[in-house]
Amino acid sequence: MPELPEVQTVVNQLGKKIVGKQFKSFSSEWPKQVKPGIAKLRRALQGATVLGTRRFGKHIVIDLDTKYSLVVHLKMTGHLLYKDEGNAASPAWRDPVNQYIRHRFLFSDGAQLDFSDMRKFGWIDYEESAALAHHQAIVGLGRDALAEDCDEDFFLDLLRRARGKRIAPLLLEQEKIAGIGNIYRSEMLFRAGIRPSRRIASLSREERLCLFVKMKEVLREAVRLRGTSDGDFRDTAGRPGGFQKTLFVYQREGLPCKRCGTIVVRQKIGQRSVFYCPNCQT
Ligand SMILES: [Zn+2]
Repeated sequence: MPELPEVQTVVNQLGKKIVGKQFKSFSSEWPKQVKPGIAKLRRALQGATVLGTRRFGKHIVIDLDTKYSLVVHLKMTGHLLYKDEGNAASPAWRDPVNQYIRHRFLFSDGAQLDFSDMRKFGWIDYEESAALAHHQAIVGLGRDALAEDCDEDFFLDLLRRARGKRIAPLLLEQEKIAGIGNIYRSEMLFRAGIRPSRRIASLSREERLCLFVKMKEVLREAVRLRGTSDGDFRDTAGRPGGFQKTLFVYQREGLPCKRCGTIVVRQKIGQRSVFYCPNCQT
């Protein structure tokens, strides 16, 4: 499932490719996931020009010159594919993962943006730009894990308030800290040497600060490598990301730890699996 780095990758790439372009039309074969309805969205987009792209947690926002914005959530298997004359012959378009086109945006210059989504959980919405912070999917989000205001003080305070909980589930609570999912919480806990099942109250100040540093480090590295494609995620050129090659523990159950050789373990905590090395993480 795309997390902060994958969504940031899409936002960065679309920022370079579609800003200044004008929408011409929109079509969809899966209307359920088009929240305003196809006809309304088509009318709203016609002739609108893209001003910029940004991200709220795992939500992609495309701002238009009509004072409205598109909001897109990729959910489990969604990804956006940008196609124009320059990349029409790309072999990436033959990748089976890129074949599940549910929605298509056309631009006036002939370029197109396809929303491929095998599982069909991804959705598109449309909202006044000035009211975006109140969008029902965005309003409850906590501070963004990569934003400047998610600093050491905020992180230490977050842990202090949740001291009765285990550390792994807290990292997935989007209303407290937004953007982290299963991949990056396993990786940041590994790098910090902290076992996922640890009670927050048992973490020393040193461990808490180390986890904060590793959180930022893992997320920044993953953005630089265009995210993790352990499954369906593809960037807007249809290519897999690169972070999966650097994974230490995520999806490596039963394999030797890359640092010490101990077999990596999977544990379910609060319904979700988390991966760790029983030797490197205490
Ligand atoms: Zn290890």
